[in-house]
Amino acid sequence: MEGDGIGPEIINSSLDVINLVKKKLNLKIKLIHLKIGLASLKSQGTTFPDNCLNVCRNSDGIILGPVDHNNYPEEINGGFNPSSLLRTKLNLYSNIRPARKYPNIKSLVDNIDLIIVRENVEGFYSDRNMFIGNGEFAPEPGIGISLRKITDKGSKRIATRAFEIASNFKKNKPKINVHAIHKANVMKLTDGIFLKACRETAKKYPEINYNEMLVDAATAHLLKNPEQFDVIVTTNMFGDILSDLASELSGSLGLAGSINVGDDVPMAQAQHGSAPDIMGKGIANPISMILSVGMMFNWIGLRKKNDLFLKASKYIKKAVEHHFEEFQYLTPDLDGNATTKDVTKSILEKIKLLN
Ligand code: ATP
Repeated sequence: MEGDGIGPEIINSSLDVINLVKKKLNLKIKLIHLKIGLASLKSQGTTFPDNCLNVCRNSDGIILGPVDHNNYPEEINGGFNPSSLLRTKLNLYSNIRPARKYPNIKSLVDNIDLIIVRENVEGFYSDRNMFIGNGEFAPEPGIGISLRKITDKGSKRIATRAFEIASNFKKNKPKINVHAIHKANVMKLTDGIFLKACRETAKKYPEINYNEMLVDAATAHLLKNPEQFDVIVTTNMFGDILSDLASELSGSLGLAGSINVGDDVPMAQAQHGSAPDIMGKGIANPISMILSVGMMFNWIGLRKKNDLFLKASKYIKKAVEHHFEEFQYLTPDLDGNATTKDVTKSILEKIKLLN
């Protein structure tokens, strides 16, 4: 699903990468293309046609380009948010968002290499955290109320996902840190539930260092001392904000991959939005989307015990590293003047050289 804005451009790049690894490794992949977003609003009167959810539910992986839902009409006029519908209806309860500094790339901080594990289906997302209805409403003109839902069940499963990821995080340090980021001094009840779940889960992983930090302090620490963070586990809205901060600190929003996953099918989705300001200029950085596809392959490989998909994921990760080592083609967000196509070509060439 290409999505809106720069979506078609970066999905095109990702498809080039997929087709190359598919050929190189003889991967058995059948790609299904679905029209969504402003393109399908024009042709079918809805941004998320009826068949999309079922096709995605029955797939082994989903690739979703960024969507410009801010500019969609009301739902009654066909403006459905594909990202929110897929996350909630398929219960993709964790959003895994790494941020790391690559050699050569100009960045605001040097020692950043972390993974944010963000709760993805409840929290302060009042457009999607209710079973029926909307958690944001106006009891009378001029008064707005927005509800934040935190559950014991949701907190336990996101904490478990974070500690699983921490257990497999290879880093050159004796103990991996998990930081639970919260605002329990103000939201005592809801973040109390979240922290209780994190503390209980931490007891099952004595080999991991468990820490807690207030979200406001965390923004300052990310800038000042990012190397202390390995895995951050947090609620939906805090995770959204902190992950944009972390990827921008590492160089650009266009750099960091991301998947949304529950217990089954993973959805690759770039960390950034549809960037309408650079749409159609051919200068979008495709790396976030390409790395997201690599993360999706990794997830499929691990869950299905399929070494070829694990290898495909490694190829993508390595090719991006080699691309930055070469330091030749950078899009304007990284202070270069290369195009999306130049970057894609460079990554394809690096993949061809790998074995
Ligand atoms: P959303 O609400 O959909 O998440 P956003 O408000 O976070 O969107 P983005 O669309 O991510 O905004 O864009 C923020 C800024 O980052 C814009 O200036 C945009 O051009 C830039 N940007 C985002 N993604 C990329 C990319 N892949 N390549 C280059 N620049 C990008």
